[in-house]
Amino acid sequence: MCETSSHCKSASFKIPDLSLDTKLVHGTAPFDPVTGAISVPIYQSSTFRHPALHESTGFDYSRVINPTRQELERTMALIEGGAYGLAFSSGMGAISAIIKLYKPGDHILVSEDLYGGTYRLFNEYYAKYGFTFSWTDTSDFSRIEAGLRPETRAVFIETPSNPMMKVTGIRRTAELIHRRGGDLIVDNTFLSPYFQNPLALGADFVIHSGTKYLAGHNDTLSGFIVHSREDQEEALRNIQKSEGAALGPFDSWLVLRGLKTLALRMERHNAGAGRIARWLREQDRVDRVFYTGFEDHPQYELSRSQARGFGGMISFYLKKREDVDVLLRNLRLILFAESLGGVESLITYPLEQTHGAIPEAMRLSAGVNDRLMRLSVGIEAPEDLIADLEEAFRRCAAASCPRRGHKSTN
Ligand code: PLP
Repeated sequence: MCETSSHCKSASFKIPDLSLDTKLVHGTAPFDPVTGAISVPIYQSSTFRHPALHESTGFDYSRVINPTRQELERTMALIEGGAYGLAFSSGMGAISAIIKLYKPGDHILVSEDLYGGTYRLFNEYYAKYGFTFSWTDTSDFSRIEAGLRPETRAVFIETPSNPMMKVTGIRRTAELIHRRGGDLIVDNTFLSPYFQNPLALGADFVIHSGTKYLAGHNDTLSGFIVHSREDQEEALRNIQKSEGAALGPFDSWLVLRGLKTLALRMERHNAGAGRIARWLREQDRVDRVFYTGFEDHPQYELSRSQARGFGGMISFYLKKREDVDVLLRNLRLILFAESLGGVESLITYPLEQTHGAIPEAMRLSAGVNDRLMRLSVGIEAPEDLIADLEEAFRRCAAASCPRRGHKSTN
């Protein structure tokens, strides 16, 4: 296969035991051996000419296989420490594909504190077809044990969780579900492969919304499954090709370009978030800050035992509900938009945005109330971000003081 493709020849380049930083820059195809191109070409072709009947270059049709996407998939496998990578048109495309490994009647135990779109997909769609899901606080191991059923085929976790920043023990959860013959699926979007590699900790499948840190520039949607389960690779490839949600060549190239700077960006996100989280904790208008890098975070040690950094995400409760609107209106640098992981800092109001699909009782039990804000710290200078927040908080204070001369109409 691929004998005549210059790209494929370069993709078989032997990778010595390089550091993750280097693997991110070079991927598995550091250059094209025919043209010398350093940037992987964008093979913007939906189909590929066959030399003759029963002969193929290895590439037939881009929904099934495309050279640019193939290099991205191989690079994702390389950096997550898996044998196989599959690229989808979004994180939801990847999550939808992984669930199709299971069948009606199977039960999947899910972190209760997770991206609202995942909840909607499971509860409004897959549940209709006979899959059963239950939701629990997976940062509490005893709840995972209690939540397993004879028909449980998988545990699906986000760690750290979205948006409450709870940490689930990947090793312990993997051991537990493996003893029952099931799989552990980890959505690793928040930390990226730079800080956490769930497969090395025993997970079976890693999911990414590549839209976030991997692409990294708030400009490209993408999603990934990475795994080493030879027994499931063919099934996953078939799902990818049959559903048709594979990532296009240009977006694949954008993610490849983003990955080259992942190490630099993650270090910067991590440092900026640490500084801003500590600052936020001291602010009068802030009630509570959720950040895995605080030494008094309940799973701080667990975090350090399974991840190499804390990432760029912080959530916090404002003291007053009235401050939400004033804060969002007055931030200038930090943009009010629902995503995360890009170079620009974004602030989100989970109640109405990312977690709007989750029923109120479940949302509240997870901690997503009407005073919760989620901040994705970008790579701007942290002092500028702090100055932006400081000014917005000043405006919140001004808005909450009764104006002089104002008469109550009551
Ligand atoms: N997983 C997490 C943790 C997310 O935050 C998101 C989106 O915000 C997704 C999955 C879905 O990814 P996408 O928006 O790329 O479909």
